[in-house]
This record gives sequence, C-alpha cells and structure tokens, in this order.
Amino acid sequence: MKATNRRVFMLQVAAGTSAAAAGQVLAQSTPAKVDPKDPQAMALGYVDDTTQADAKKFPKHSNDQKCANCQVYSGKAGDKTGPCAVFGGKLVSSGGWCSAWVKKA
Ligand code: SF4
Repeated sequence: MKATNRRVFMLQVAAGTSAAAAGQVLAQSTPAKVDPKDPQAMALGYVDDTTQADAKKFPKHSNDQKCANCQVYSGKAGDKTGPCAVFGGKLVSSGGWCSAWVKKA
C-alpha cells in the first residue's frame, strides 16, 4: 500500500468511526419521557392524563386542555408523546397536562 493510499484508508476508517459515533449519539438522544414524579413535574402538576389533574389545586384546568393543544408541545398530530419545551424537550403524553399549559396559537 502506497503512503497516499494508506492515508486515504486511514481517513476512511476515521470517517466511518465518526459516522458510527454520530449514530450512537442519535440513538442516545431520543428524549426521555417526563416522569410525573419528577420534582419539576410535581411542581407543575404534570399528569399523563389531563383528566387526572388536581382540580382543587388548579381550578382553571379543564379536560380540553391537553399537551397536544399546548403552545410549547412539538409532537406530531396523532403521536402519543411529543417533546415539551417547558421540560427541556423531554417527552410528554399528548393527552397530558401541566399548569404551564398555554393554548396553541
Ligand atoms: Fe404539556 Fe404544555 Fe405542560 Fe408541556 S407545558 S407538559 S406540553 S401542558
């Protein structure tokens, strides 16, 4: 193998390794689901099911308020979960709710 060929080969190996590493990063970057028992979720009264929201604590809540129609929810229509900006992009239930709910414009 000539020196030039060896250098090209090493670059290809390095590129392949980078692509594999990028693949791992992508696989690991799938956001976690928000646990309703997380301190932040508890503080905001997050529930996976809007009908389970604490009516006494959140009197302005109504069951038609859901993550799926919240301003900061970025899940696709029909998906069961989607990222929420309030929870740093973690996944929330499309039928969930928290006290930071704002009607999607
Ligand atoms: Fe759901 Fe909106 Fe609360 Fe996020 S901020 S958990 S999308 S209601």
